[in-house]
Amino acid sequence: MIQITNKADCCGCTACASVCMHHAITLKSDNEGFLYPIINKDSCIECGLCEKVCPILQRKKQELNPNQLHYKALRIKDTELLNQSSSGGAFIAVASYIIKKGGVICGAKYTKAATVIHGFAETLDEAKKFMGSKYSQSDIQGVFPKIKETLKTGRLVLFTGTPCQVHGLNLFLQKKYNNLFTIDLVCHAVPSPLIFQEYINYCSQKLKSPIESIDMRYKLPYGWGHNFSYRFHLQNGKNLTNPYSVEKWGRLFFSKLIDRPSCHECKFTNYNRCSDLTIADFWDDMNKRPDIYSKEGTSLCLVNTEKGALILNEINDTIALWDISQEESQQPCLLRPTPPNNKREKFWNDYNKRGFKYVYWKYFTDSYYVQFKHMIKHILIILGIWTKKE
Ligand SMILES: Cc1cc2nc3c(=O)[nH]c(=O)nc-3n(C[C@H](O)[C@H](O)[C@H](O)COP(=O)(O)OP(=O)(O)OC[C@H]3O[C@@H](n4cnc5c(N)ncnc54)[C@H](O)[C@@H]3O)c2cc1C
Ligand code: SF4
Ligand code: SF4
Ligand code: SF4
Repeated sequence: MIQITNKADCCGCTACASVCMHHAITLKSDNEGFLYPIINKDSCIECGLCEKVCPILQRKKQELNPNQLHYKALRIKDTELLNQSSSGGAFIAVASYIIKKGGVICGAKYTKAATVIHGFAETLDEAKKFMGSKYSQSDIQGVFPKIKETLKTGRLVLFTGTPCQVHGLNLFLQKKYNNLFTIDLVCHAVPSPLIFQEYINYCSQKLKSPIESIDMRYKLPYGWGHNFSYRFHLQNGKNLTNPYSVEKWGRLFFSKLIDRPSCHECKFTNYNRCSDLTIADFWDDMNKRPDIYSKEGTSLCLVNTEKGALILNEINDTIALWDISQEESQQPCLLRPTPPNNKREKFWNDYNKRGFKYVYWKYFTDSYYVQFKHMIKHILIILGIWTKKE
C-alpha cells in the first residue's frame, strides 16, 4: 500500500484514492493545505493497486526519453477568446473542437469561494471557466472515476491539467482510450491552496467585497508579458485591475516559499510528456521570432502523439500555427524542477506561529518607495507616455 514518508513523493493527484475499491484511502490536507493520502489499514487488503497507479512511484521506474513529434507556436484567431486566454489560446481552441463534436471537457476552475477545483463542461460557456491560469493547486477529488464512466459511453473527453495530474489519470485508467485527449501544461509548481485562501480573505477585506475569481494573466493594460496584470472579479459586481491596496499573487507564487514539496523534485519538468499536447507560454517570440510575436500572446505547443497531431490538423482553420525548433521551445520548466527557496522552512514556522498577515508583510510587501515607483509606472502606461514593450 501507499505510504508517504517523504512529502516530495506525493503530488496529490488522487489516483490512489480513486482506484482503491475498498475505500481504504482518503485524502486529507496537511498543515500547508496540500492533500495527502491517509490509509485505513483495517480496510486495506494489500492488493498493491494504489502503488501501480501512483505517477510519482511509477515515474521513478520509467525510462525518460523525449517524445515530441513536432514543436509549434500557436495563436487562436478569435480575438475575444485570445484576450481571455493566458497565452495564445491553445486550450480553448482544442476545447471548442471537442465541444462541437459532442464531447466533455475537464479542467480547473474557480468555485464561488475562489478556491480552485477540477470540474466538467459540456458547453463552450462552461468550458470558458477553465480558461486562464489559476496559480493554486486544483482539488481534483472524484474526477478520475467520472472520466472513466464517460469514456466507457464512447463520448470524447478532453482532460487538461498539470503533467502529474495527467499521468495520474492515465495510470488510473489502466488502459488507453481512443476517445480520451489530454493536454498538460509546462508546470512551474503549484502553490499552497491554504495560503491562496488566506490571500483571498485578505484581499476581500481590503477590497471590501468577497472575491469570485482572479484573472491572473489579464492582458490589459500592459499586453501579454512577464509583468502579469491582475483583474479581481468581486461578488459585488465590480472588477478591479491591479488594485494598489493588495499585492499581486504572482509575488507569492514566484517566491518558491509556498509550493508543494513534490514540485521541487518534479519528475515532469522535461521533454518526456504524458499527454497528447503540452501547452505553455511561448516567450521566445518577443526577441527571436518577430514573425510570430503579437502582444496578444502566443502559446507554445509540444505535439507528443499522433492524436495530438490529428487534433491540431482538425482545428487548423481556427488557429495560426508556426513550426519552431526544439531549441526555441526550451524554457526552465522543461529542463529542471523549480528549486525551493532556502527560507521555506522559516516561512512556514513564521506562518504557523504568527499567521498570514505577519508573513505577508514580512515576505511579500514592497517598500513604500517601490510601491510609489510602480504607481508612477502604471499611470504613465495608462496615459500612453511609457510603453512596456512593443
Ligand atoms: C500552476 C501553473 C504553472 C504554470 N507554469 C508555467 C511555466 O512554468 N511556463 C509556461 O510557459 N507556462 C506555464 N503555465 C501555463 C501557462 O500559464 C498557460 O496556462 C498556458 O500557456 C496555456 O495557455 P492558453 O492560452 O492555451 O490557455 P488558458 O486559457 O490559459 O488555459 C488554461 C488551461 O490551464 C488549466 N489550468 C489552469 N489553472 C490550472 C491549475 N491550477 N491546475 C491545473 N490546470 C490548470 C485549465 O484547465 C485550462 O486547460 C502554468 C500554468 C499553471 C496553472
Ligand atoms: S493496497 Fe489495495 S486495498 Fe490497500 S489501500 Fe492500496 S488499493 Fe486499497
Ligand atoms: S501522487 Fe497521487 S497516487 Fe501517488 S500517493 Fe500521491 S495522491 Fe496517491
Ligand atoms: S511541478 Fe511537477 S509535481 Fe508540481 S504540480 Fe507541476 S507537474 Fe505536479
